[in-house]
Amino acid sequence: MPNKVRIYQIALPFDHDEKALQKKALEKTGFSQSDIIGISIVKRSMDTRFHKKPGFIYCLDIEVKEGVRIQDGLEILPQSQPHEDIVYGSSRISHRPVVVGTGPGGLFAAYWLAQNGYSPLILEQGQEIGKRKQAIENFHNTRIMSPTSNYVFGEGGAGSYSDGKLNTGVTSGYIAQILKIMVDCGAPHEILYVSPPHIGSDRLRAVIIQLRKRIIEWGGEFRFETKVTNLIVHSGKIAGVVTDKGEIPADLLVLATGSHDQDTFAMLSSCGIFMEKKPFQMGVRIEHPQEFIDKKQYGKYSGCAGLPPANYRLVGPESKERCQVCTFCMCPGGEVMAGTGTPGFLSTNGMSNYRRDSGFANAALITTFFPEEMEDNPLAGLFYRQKIEKAAFLAGKGDYTAPAQNAGDFISDRLGALPATSYRFQVKPVRISSFMPEKFLVALKKALPSFEEKMPGFISSGLLIAPETRASCPIKITRDKDSMQSLSCQNLYPVGEGAGYAGGIISAALDGIKAAKVIISTFSRPGMLKD
Ligand SMILES: Cc1cc2nc3c(=O)[nH]c(=O)nc-3n(C[C@H](O)[C@H](O)[C@H](O)COP(=O)(O)OP(=O)(O)OC[C@H]3O[C@@H](n4cnc5c(N)ncnc54)[C@H](O)[C@@H]3O)c2cc1C
Repeated sequence: MPNKVRIYQIALPFDHDEKALQKKALEKTGFSQSDIIGISIVKRSMDTRFHKKPGFIYCLDIEVKEGVRIQDGLEILPQSQPHEDIVYGSSRISHRPVVVGTGPGGLFAAYWLAQNGYSPLILEQGQEIGKRKQAIENFHNTRIMSPTSNYVFGEGGAGSYSDGKLNTGVTSGYIAQILKIMVDCGAPHEILYVSPPHIGSDRLRAVIIQLRKRIIEWGGEFRFETKVTNLIVHSGKIAGVVTDKGEIPADLLVLATGSHDQDTFAMLSSCGIFMEKKPFQMGVRIEHPQEFIDKKQYGKYSGCAGLPPANYRLVGPESKERCQVCTFCMCPGGEVMAGTGTPGFLSTNGMSNYRRDSGFANAALITTFFPEEMEDNPLAGLFYRQKIEKAAFLAGKGDYTAPAQNAGDFISDRLGALPATSYRFQVKPVRISSFMPEKFLVALKKALPSFEEKMPGFISSGLLIAPETRASCPIKITRDKDSMQSLSCQNLYPVGEGAGYAGGIISAALDGIKAAKVIISTFSRPGMLKD
């Protein structure tokens, strides 16, 4: 039987030719060309350490013919991957599972349920992706935002208009499966090995359409433009949902409604669903010309073919007051967008397409706000961010024009003319101190000079666009660790970012899969039951 060997830390300059990788692999393993069946890239990351020519670092799998001698010390991979048997539960349900929300949490929960014969019914307040795109174009043209189909609501959820970074701090064997499913549904093959993987909003939206088609083929059903407005609870157990199109009976409900819908949190609160405050992050976006970031990271190689638009990550000084500013969700070649779902409120965020070719680079500059700093109400963090979003909306022109200030002007408390920006609704010179919380302003004043030290020119070429209030969810919908059910309502499965258990596309998808697996192991298959 052929053997597979894994090798790490193969470093090559960014402009290496195709043969160089194979040559290095042979040198490192002692194999000859004729020993090898194939070489596959497991991981490729960038190396941009200062004063060095930028390069790639590879991890490779090499398949060799049977009988080929393998040097001592090389890692031989097991012949077969561990197989997981699915155990179906025995509790009977008379209605198909209902999933609310088509963000990555809801979509992957539905995918797992559908693939295993549970024919889920999926409800989404926004439109399917084609119509959602039109609603967003209409928003650009008229500055009138649809309350249900916008940058954060509609098919695909908040991920559909995001930077499309697919990295996560969570470790799980299912990450590789999620990425593989995405590739099968049309994502670029490189997301399987490039670190960090990036798909971009344009390619992600195409993948979401294919995921939907598969779920339907396996017996799932989607109802778009259907908003859940109430829960039906009998004897502490889910019995159905009320939607703006009528009632739907349900034995179990996957609640994957994300962190952006204020009505949904208010509805859950009025239904007595247990929720609690959690730490969350807020701040502003900073935008630079991408060329500036490339020059800082790549030096004289900036602009060379083969180098992707450069990335950066910065962490400001810590303070006793627990307010430290760091960069978050950096979008090379991206655009700053109006990432709120509530008309009349303004929050900025960053997104990009696969090619990352906007010519601008943006990143969030955020600090953490803690539950004890908020009022005594589970929804206090939500109200806090709403207040800032309303003030920012009004400080613009009340039409999604964003308040902005040059980073240098912020330091010296001035207002000057603003440079070009990727933000489509234009920016207006406003002192961000007029509406941002004092705690953040103090931390930002400390952080910017330290960022300037690390990247000279960071302040003078940086434009602050405010506010960024949606970096994470201020609420947790409490649930049992093992059953994943709400602590106050049986058979209610809160999942994803809005429930407080995820902070990105992949972690939300993982949480959805985890809930689907618990449901599969608890309940027997309902066959093709309809409500
Ligand atoms: C602009 C932006 C950029 C981002 N960039 C990245 C990135 O590059 N990488 C990354 O990993 N993460 C990124 N994120 C975060 C990521 O998008 C979220 O963590 C992820 O989408 C959360 O998934 P979710 O399924 O929990 O919720 P969501 O994606 O928010 O989906 C929730 C869905 O539920 C629907 N819904 C809500 N209430 C109801 C209701 N009552 N009835 C019916 N439907 C309802 C909403 O319309 C929405 O479609 C970004 C987020 C934003 C906003």
